[in-house]
Amino acid sequence: MLQDFGRIIETDVVAVGGSGAGITAAVYAARAGARVALVSKGKIGVSGNAIMAGGGFGVDGESGKNLLHLDFADPSFTKERLFDCIVKESFYLADQNMVRQYIDDGPIVMKDYLGWAERAGQDFFCCPPANWIASGLSFTKALVQGLKETAGIQTFEDMMIVEVLTNEKTVCGAVGIDIYTGEAVLFRTKAVVIGTGGYMPFSMNNTVTDMTGDGPAMAYRAGARLTDMEFILSFPTAVVPQEMRGSIYPYVFEYNMRNLKYTIRDKNGDPLPIPEEVVKLSRGGKLSKLVTSYYFGYAADQGLAGPNGGFFYDYSANSREEKEAGLKIFYDRFDRWHRHGYYKGESLATVERMLFADEPIEVGIGAEYCMGGVEIDDQMQTGVDGLYVAGEAGSGVFGACRVGDGLVEMMCQGMRAGRNAAAYAEQSKLHALDEAQSAQCLNKIFGIFEHRGGMNALTLYEEIQKACDEGFGLIRSEERLKKALRRIEELEAEWKNVTLVSQSRAYNLEWLGALQTQNLLTCCKAGILAAIERKESRGCHIRKDYPQVDHDNYLIKYVHHDEAGEMKTEIRRPIADRMPLPTGKRENVIEYFLDPALKYKR
Ligand SMILES: Cc1cc2nc3c(=O)[nH]c(=O)nc-3n(C[C@H](O)[C@H](O)[C@H](O)COP(=O)(O)OP(=O)(O)OC[C@H]3O[C@@H](n4cnc5c(N)ncnc54)[C@H](O)[C@@H]3O)c2cc1C
Repeated sequence: MLQDFGRIIETDVVAVGGSGAGITAAVYAARAGARVALVSKGKIGVSGNAIMAGGGFGVDGESGKNLLHLDFADPSFTKERLFDCIVKESFYLADQNMVRQYIDDGPIVMKDYLGWAERAGQDFFCCPPANWIASGLSFTKALVQGLKETAGIQTFEDMMIVEVLTNEKTVCGAVGIDIYTGEAVLFRTKAVVIGTGGYMPFSMNNTVTDMTGDGPAMAYRAGARLTDMEFILSFPTAVVPQEMRGSIYPYVFEYNMRNLKYTIRDKNGDPLPIPEEVVKLSRGGKLSKLVTSYYFGYAADQGLAGPNGGFFYDYSANSREEKEAGLKIFYDRFDRWHRHGYYKGESLATVERMLFADEPIEVGIGAEYCMGGVEIDDQMQTGVDGLYVAGEAGSGVFGACRVGDGLVEMMCQGMRAGRNAAAYAEQSKLHALDEAQSAQCLNKIFGIFEHRGGMNALTLYEEIQKACDEGFGLIRSEERLKKALRRIEELEAEWKNVTLVSQSRAYNLEWLGALQTQNLLTCCKAGILAAIERKESRGCHIRKDYPQVDHDNYLIKYVHHDEAGEMKTEIRRPIADRMPLPTGKRENVIEYFLDPALKYKR
């Protein structure tokens, strides 16, 4: 069986993922003395969602002043306040020990990170309480600097990990496919850190296009548990001009050009019924993601969306001078990374023309981030010995709604996971392979070439997105969710005979797509199952048949595990070791924030 692997690499820790979580895990594991293999499906530092980021990230102001010595820090935004915000923003579903780890370790990793950024020549825009704005690419250039400065890391790019191997619930290896040659590569390792990002089930999104939930699904197959999979965060995303579809410029405009007033209108020109107090609570701030999802979602559900599925931003209440001033703020911040007149690679000429001509600009909602993932504790352990998870592939910090920073999460968890994986590897032996499991894995990978007459992998991927768009989208109901689940189960059956047009193993993206769709199906199924069970609305899970936030019955997490090939779902309460969990019901997810008893203040 070993001869079926093109290469065998022995190491202590495999960090999977070439972005924030994977790179930081690799760096801190190597610093702790472990031999590390950093393996990434995409290019290291230029793959994953970190490169897409609008670039806002930060820590509490107290640490900003005392630990990071930032002259712009506002220490009145204390650790305590940040904790209070994140737990409440999570609709109390965060595991509070995970939030504490985020708050305590965030500034520590940030100290290293800011050093890397400086030495990589990256210049960020700074603002209180202790926040930075960067472009996604400048953010990851700093991470790559950290990698360059660290000895003991072997890197493998364009290598997709397809399975974590275990023996008696203990990690003993990982199997990858070299994307260029198509050969299977065996990593013999004591520990694996998964930092592969989240899963993206929808066609309207603003993420990179290969967020297929590989890490969560592999961990699940290896015996770990998935939780909070029903919560997916979305925010304003371009639908016009056509060449900018999927760009996050609308959100970045809103976040940075706060001087501009605007009204959001439906296809008939009527304003969306967003109460003034909600506008005040959200506009220009991070709660706007949830608020726009809610109002866009309901209005779209009533058939009020425009021809591209979006709503119309009307800036006509601003004078020409105000618009120019807004754009100046934007360009002053972003010209350090992008060509003037562009956001990332895309020209803003059409958007600017529409803005000055007072033409309403249609904007949609695109999915960004998955709050759910592998269930981990505050040491990033999964319950499978030697298996750690960090970043968006994990769960626990943000519960039902993320307002804090995914970029900080990936780094502080990567740091903790890397250190712990190295310590674990140091005190354990390399476990024997389970030969039957390895053979089964090879069979799965290469057996796909034998399939005939089944659905093509790319069609399968589109069908998954279609099922999720229709039944698992912004506004959910029992009927739609059940229909989506039935379709996902049919597609699971189709997957068993997924058929490839090309029989070559070298750079066969269709083949990799086939393997990825299995992962996506697992994640979608977990998310939809939980969404059916959760007969309430909470955070980004909005049900029109159960609009209330029901603390009495649903302040619980749905946790999924594999039992002989079947997905089993259990429930548990979130860990609330510092702030008590509330009781009662709130009218809907917006009223939840307006409730004065919540005492929410970002
Ligand atoms: C448009 C957009 C804007 C955002 N803006 C912000 C922001 O302003 N601030 C903020 O804090 N957060 C932001 N986020 C969220 C943030 O980008 C993510 O939380 C963060 O990138 C997650 O980091 P990660 O390392 O866990 O995963 P990712 O950054 O997604 O990286 C995953 C890595 O794993 C690799 N990989 C995947 N599968 C495999 C496999 N099978 N084998 C090997 N490698 C694999 C990928 O190639 C990639 O290198 C934004 C996200 C998006 C989409």
